[in-house]
Amino acid sequence: MTSTRSTDHSTPPESPSHAPSRAVRGLLSVVIPCHNEQEVIEATHARLAEVLPRSGMDFEVLYVDDGSRDQTLARLEAIAARDARVQVIELARNFGQQAAMSAGLAAAHGDAIVITDADLQDPPEVILEMVRRWQDGVDVAYGRRRSRDGETRFKLLTASLFHRMFARLVPYPMPVDTGDFKLIDRAVADAVVALPEKRRYLRSLVPWAGFRHEPVWYDRHARLAGQTKYSPWKLLKLAADALILSSDAPVRLTWVATAGLALVGGAAAAVATGSWWMSAAGTGREPTIAAITAVACLVGAVQTAAVAVVGEYVVRGYRESQGRPTWVVRRTIGGGRAAARPSAKAA
Ligand code: UDP
Ligand code: MG
Repeated sequence: MTSTRSTDHSTPPESPSHAPSRAVRGLLSVVIPCHNEQEVIEATHARLAEVLPRSGMDFEVLYVDDGSRDQTLARLEAIAARDARVQVIELARNFGQQAAMSAGLAAAHGDAIVITDADLQDPPEVILEMVRRWQDGVDVAYGRRRSRDGETRFKLLTASLFHRMFARLVPYPMPVDTGDFKLIDRAVADAVVALPEKRRYLRSLVPWAGFRHEPVWYDRHARLAGQTKYSPWKLLKLAADALILSSDAPVRLTWVATAGLALVGGAAAAVATGSWWMSAAGTGREPTIAAITAVACLVGAVQTAAVAVVGEYVVRGYRESQGRPTWVVRRTIGGGRAAARPSAKAA
């Protein structure tokens, strides 16, 4: 069923692939996390049902309902009732997008698996190009955004800065200007699903696994309908999670702050000693209360920040040690295409 798989972990992203071509047939899984997407979900499925047959592959679509409180689940049930290629995984509550995507990935049977959002921001037609790249031997064909409609200037700027900073801080090659929209080979999915860690940030776990990555450039559209599920605060929490789960840099940065403070302190001591010596003992200017308070607050803030950074790692370590699952499934509706083709299930 599946084709040849590359396991070259040393190849950086965007390197040309020389792996032999994969079989044209096979099963394509599309994983879609959904949280309160009643306005778009029907349109999304209609577009996918129109586009995916053009891939030349059999396909299944796995919608993961992540604790929606609107009509999303009812609409997904209706879609699954009339389309045997659809499976709906209903999570027991809202576990978050990362958990929802992970649940879909774990349930997917495909030789290749696409992850995409429910809101048609990522045009399904791009999946066809991703499939072609995969058939040519690429293991991860990730959507790289040429442009992004419907986002504020502030979000574009902060996202771009964060992506670039993040790529410098993680200790493995990390693509920029990309999100969750990507196609990954079964071998990559197996490597990621097998990881024991509970708290997951898939955007960095997939590059962590290695394999052959290639960008597929595309223009990201505005959301078809509905609202983003990410407030600035939720985005900030996601960014903190991303950084702390993927990099030791925050702890290392506290050393930089320590060195910076030591340098400032040393310079201040030299100036104070010099001015005392130049102006005869005792006649130099005394430090003001405000200056002392400023220094004490600065030192205190850096120390508190260092403790807080360590605390962030400790909390995450504690959560991992509790061993709670990343998500809980309440119900699964429909078998997806794989149910009709048990042979498609990867060993
Ligand atoms: N989503 C989810 N659980 C959540 C939040 C979001 O499954 O707790 C889904 C959402 O339905 C969408 C995808 O994750 O399919 C991305 O969310 P959204 O489009 O709101 O993010 P944005 O594109 O604005 O960053
Ligand atoms: Mg979106």
